[in-house]
Amino acid sequence: MKPADTMEKLVSLCKRRGFVFPSSEIYGGLKSCWDYGPLGVELKRNVKDAWWNALVRGRSDVVGLDTSILMHPKVWETSGHVSGFNDPLVDCKKCKARFRADTLDTQVCPEKPSKRPGECDGELTEPRQFNLMFKTNMGPVESQESAVYLRPETAQGIFVNFKNVLETSRVKPPFGIAQQGKSFRNEIVTENFIFRSREFEQMEMEFFVPPAEADTWYEYWCKERLQWFLDLGVDPDRMRLREHESNELAHYSKACADLEYQFPFGWKELEGVANRTDFDLKRHQEATGRDLRFFDDQTKERYWPYVIEPALGVDRAILVFLVDGYDEEALEDGDSRTVLHLHPKLAPIKAGIFPLVKKDGLPDIAHKLEEDLRKQFNVFYDQSGAIGRRYRRQDEIGTPFCITVDHDSKENGTVTIRDRDTMAQERVAIDAVAAFLRGKIGY
Ligand code: ATP
Repeated sequence: MKPADTMEKLVSLCKRRGFVFPSSEIYGGLKSCWDYGPLGVELKRNVKDAWWNALVRGRSDVVGLDTSILMHPKVWETSGHVSGFNDPLVDCKKCKARFRADTLDTQVCPEKPSKRPGECDGELTEPRQFNLMFKTNMGPVESQESAVYLRPETAQGIFVNFKNVLETSRVKPPFGIAQQGKSFRNEIVTENFIFRSREFEQMEMEFFVPPAEADTWYEYWCKERLQWFLDLGVDPDRMRLREHESNELAHYSKACADLEYQFPFGWKELEGVANRTDFDLKRHQEATGRDLRFFDDQTKERYWPYVIEPALGVDRAILVFLVDGYDEEALEDGDSRTVLHLHPKLAPIKAGIFPLVKKDGLPDIAHKLEEDLRKQFNVFYDQSGAIGRRYRRQDEIGTPFCITVDHDSKENGTVTIRDRDTMAQERVAIDAVAAFLRGKIGY
C-alpha cells in the first residue's frame, strides 16, 4: 500500500540510496536544482533509452538530433518566447515573497503557511508579466548585443534544422525528428521535488505531417504516448489524457492534450501532445527568408507540414515511475518491506548476486557469474549480511532479480533466482541465467 506520506518517504529514499541529491548540498543546496546519484543516473539513462528506442530506433519514420542549448537569440523572438513566454507574477508587499498569479490557490504564505497568498495581512501587487527565459552573455562583453538565452524547450532546435534533416536524410512527411536534452525555465514557483525545477531535461519529438493528416496523427500520438507509460508498468488508473479547452491552447496550437498522472499532490501534467500546426516553420521562414516548405516529388506540391509534438520532461517521467513503483508491503512473517516496483527495463540494477555464505568457494562462483553477467547487465555483487537483508536492500531500489549461489550450486551448477514482486524463487542453471534475465527484462 502506498502511504499517505509517499512523497516524503520517496525523497528520503532517493537521498539515502543515491538516486537524487539536492544540488550543491554542502553549500546548503540550490533551490530547485537536483543531482542524480549513482542509482538515479542509471534510472535516468534507462528512461531516456526506453523513450529513444520506442520513438527513434524502433521506427523507420523518426530520426534523432542533438542541438545546442545556446541558439541564435533571434530564434526566440521568432518563436514568440521573448514576447510571450511569461507567467503572471505578484509580490506580497509585506513579506516580499513572489507568487504565480494564476496558481495562488495552490501556494502558501511563507510566513503563515496555513494561509494562501493575500489571505494573510499582506497585500498583493497587481500581476505583471515575468519572462521565464534565463539570459546570459556570449563572449567577454556584457551587452544587449551579446545576450543569449538558455533554451526553454528543445523543440526550436528541431525546427531550425528542419531543412538540414530533409536534405541529409531520406525522410518525407509523415516523419519525425526527436531530441533529448536540457531545458531551462526561470520558474516563479518550483515544487514537489523533481516535478518542477529550473533546470530539467526534455524529450521532444516533432512529427511533420501533410496538413490533411494532422488530426489523425494527433490522435495516434496521444494513444502511443499513453501506451508507452502503460507498457512500462504505470498503473492505468492513475493516468488520464485531458484534452485542453480552447481557452487553454497556446497561440500556436490547434489541439493539445495533457497526459496527466495522479501524483500524491494531485493530478498533474506529465506530458503534452500538441498539434502545433505550421506555425513554427512558417515563422522561421518569414524571419530568415529560407524556404522551409517540403517539396513533394510525386504531387509536385510545396507545402509547410503540420507538426504533432509529444513533449515530455525526463525528470517528471522519473518521478512518475518512482511514485508509481513505491510500495510498503506487510509480509506473512509479520515483517514489512519497502519495494520499488520499477519495470525491469528501467531498474538501475538488473540483478543482485549473492553467495549464501562467504566461504566454501561460493564467493568464487558468484564472482564468476557477476563477471559474465556484467557484460550485458548492470549487476551488483553483495556478500554482506543475512540473505533476507540483502534482498530487502535490493527491493528498496527496485532490483527485479536476486541470484543466490548456495551449496547446491557447487553440486549441480544451478542458482536460485528470486523475483522482486512475487518473492518466488526458482532454480536456474548458471549458464542459462543470462538468457533468463534477457527474457524477463525484454531485451
Ligand atoms: P507546466 O504547465 O507544468 O509548467 P508546460 O505546459 O509549460 O508545463 P511544456 O512547455 O508543454 O510544459 O513542456 C513539456 C514538458 O516538459 C512538460 O509536460 C513537463 O513534463 C516538462 N517540463 C516543463 N517545465 C518543467 C519544469 N519546470 N520542470 C520539470 N519539467 C518540466
